[in-house]
Amino acid sequence: MSCVSDSSSLNKAMRQQYLSLPQGPFCQVTYVWIDGSGEGLRSKTRTMDSEPKSIADLPEWNFDGSSTGQSEGRNSDMLLIPVCMFRDPFILDPNKLVLCEVFKHTRKPAESNHRNSCNKIMKMVKDLHPWFGMEQEYTLLGVDGHPYGWPKLGYPKPQGPYYCSVGADRAFGRDIVDCHYKACLYAGIKICGTNAEVMPSQWEFQVGPCEGIEMGDHLWMARFLLHRVCEDFGVVATLDPKPMTGDWNGAGCHINVSTMQMREEGGIKHIEKAIEKLAMRHPEHIQVYDPRGGQDNKRRLTGQHETASITDFTAGVADRGASVRIPRQVGQDKCGYFEDRRPAANCDPYAVTFAMARTCMLEEGKDVHELE
Ligand code: ADP
Ligand code: MN
Ligand code: MN
Ligand code: MN
Repeated sequence: MSCVSDSSSLNKAMRQQYLSLPQGPFCQVTYVWIDGSGEGLRSKTRTMDSEPKSIADLPEWNFDGSSTGQSEGRNSDMLLIPVCMFRDPFILDPNKLVLCEVFKHTRKPAESNHRNSCNKIMKMVKDLHPWFGMEQEYTLLGVDGHPYGWPKLGYPKPQGPYYCSVGADRAFGRDIVDCHYKACLYAGIKICGTNAEVMPSQWEFQVGPCEGIEMGDHLWMARFLLHRVCEDFGVVATLDPKPMTGDWNGAGCHINVSTMQMREEGGIKHIEKAIEKLAMRHPEHIQVYDPRGGQDNKRRLTGQHETASITDFTAGVADRGASVRIPRQVGQDKCGYFEDRRPAANCDPYAVTFAMARTCMLEEGKDVHELE
């Protein structure tokens, strides 16, 4: 099998001819949602008579939940409620991509819908102006499942030259990174950077700072764009937290966190307080830092390859082997933000920011479930 997909080699000049046809007053709107795996994304497209100007202009829609691991065969209709709209960087203006929450026919949130409760807690802590920034690591694979650009037999040279690298013998698949970055900017996603990672064919992009619920919304749509760009090039992006066993780095999704108090002069004492609270809830956080309650992340959090052990909580200034790191600059300035390095690459950012807000920001004694 070739390592790139058949459809990636279809005639792209021909495609361009059709894509540049005028489309009249109509608008193509692609609804995007998280499927029953808690990790996969699905989408489908409809025509609207005119360009929607905001979420309020977008109707509810539905889909067959029995085909996405979200409901039984009977009573399989699931509801899609639009929550966040972006420009479509593939078929261009005025067309849209719309992130949706999924509800059951009873109008209760689907099991996979972690946005609903996240949104509630973000409203409770909104006066703290919580900012998040997430670092999405991912690995490029051929459609044969083998890391993209790796030798067909055997392994590339050991880790060392690949992190932030340049050159055909060490940076594999940069076209995808460049195109994804531009696609995010066009769409309106708050992407703030990118770099090649320690393992060859592994890359990272960063989204943030985002306030409250925006973190999950922007990261999920950035992931959709990544998978979509990879599809065009005929390769696959995996968010598996440890795609290659052995002496190869895993893939995480570090989360950087601050509140207004932490960002102000002397804010370090609020950072330290938050870290003390995190230390007391290590197992609860590990539970929600991957979609399988820690099962995926335990392959990655070994205490090696710039990770802490999954069983111990540690924190330190500039320590990339700790669970939580205070960046050196923040240690010097005595204010800023902290970084939780534990979330796996395939975490749900809604679940992770929810846990962060509950542990570090919610008033003592308050419980988000009181609101339900
Ligand atoms: P690292 O040194 O860990 O590789 P990166 O540069 O990859 O860090 O990512 C830093 C992240 O921190 C970015 O997503 C950025 O948006 C986020 N960030 C920066 N300042 C803040 C802040 N005050 N609060 C929360 N997140 C922040
Ligand atoms: Mn980074
Ligand atoms: Mn990284
Ligand atoms: Mn980091």
